[in-house]
Order: sequence, then C-alpha cells, then structure tokens
Amino acid sequence: MERRKERLTEMRIYVIGPVSGFDDLNLPAFDAARKALALADFQAMIPHDFIPSDATWQQAMRRSLETLVKADGIACLPGWSDSNGARLEVEIAQSLGMPTLEVGDWLEPHIARNRERLAKTTKLCPRCQRVIPLLLFDKSASSGDGRQSYCRDCMRGHKKSR
Ligand SMILES: [Zn+2]
Repeated sequence: MERRKERLTEMRIYVIGPVSGFDDLNLPAFDAARKALALADFQAMIPHDFIPSDATWQQAMRRSLETLVKADGIACLPGWSDSNGARLEVEIAQSLGMPTLEVGDWLEPHIARNRERLAKTTKLCPRCQRVIPLLLFDKSASSGDGRQSYCRDCMRGHKKSR
C-alpha cells in the first residue's frame, strides 16, 4: 500500500468497459475516462488506441489482455459488468492482484487536491453516488451544466424499470 501511494502519479491505468453493441464503440466514454484520469496524473490507456475496429472478439481480447497485464491498475467504466470481455478482464486483473476500481474511485483521492480542475470534467451522480466523467451524462439543454442530473447508466436503468 505504501509503495502504491508513492508511485501513484506514475501509475499506468488501463481503461476497460463495454465496447461492442455501441455504434461508436463507446469511444466517447473511454475518451472521457482517459482525459479525467490524465487530469488526475495517471497515464491512461484505452483499447481503441491499439485494437483495430474490425478485430474479432477473440483478436480484440488477445490484444487487450497483453496491455492489461502490463498496466499498474484497471479502471472500469460504468456498464462494465454487462460486457463479457470486461468481466473476464476484471477477473484476470483481480486474480493477478492488480488494483481494479471504477473510474470514479481512481479519481476520488485526487478530487480534494484538484477540486477546481476536475469539477470541469467530472460530476457526481446523485443516484449511484459515483463521481464520473461529465461525458457519461447525456446532454440536456435545460440544465445549468448542459448535462442530465443522473448519469447515462442510471437514466438507462431508470427507463428500463418503468
Ligand atoms: Zn448514476
């Protein structure tokens, strides 16, 4: 734990989450997470950087796992548990003793220190109580910050349950 604290600023974080089933391969969410993690002084990597968009699931997983095992920690995007690939990656990362947290939990320790900087890119969802990238909130013309008050995940769950 002590060592982790000292090295926190150099940590390479691999972002995982749902990719298939999205027209845009969920790139905006990955990109937002990478930017937020970079603001918190992490070195973040996302699969879209090195996995061709036409790769099969197996090809993508092979490439992804190569990067995953070299990372210092894993950041999970909302919805990761709906993704077979991400669930497998989390299981492997945890088995290998790699710190595996939601994106917001990686950011949390930095928020006090960088409150002003991060406030511009992240927001607390009052429903799931996560601090997550602003881009994971759908746009809303009627709100002050231009985003819905609940995150995309919660809005989705909200609609589903009605
Ligand atoms: Zn939420």
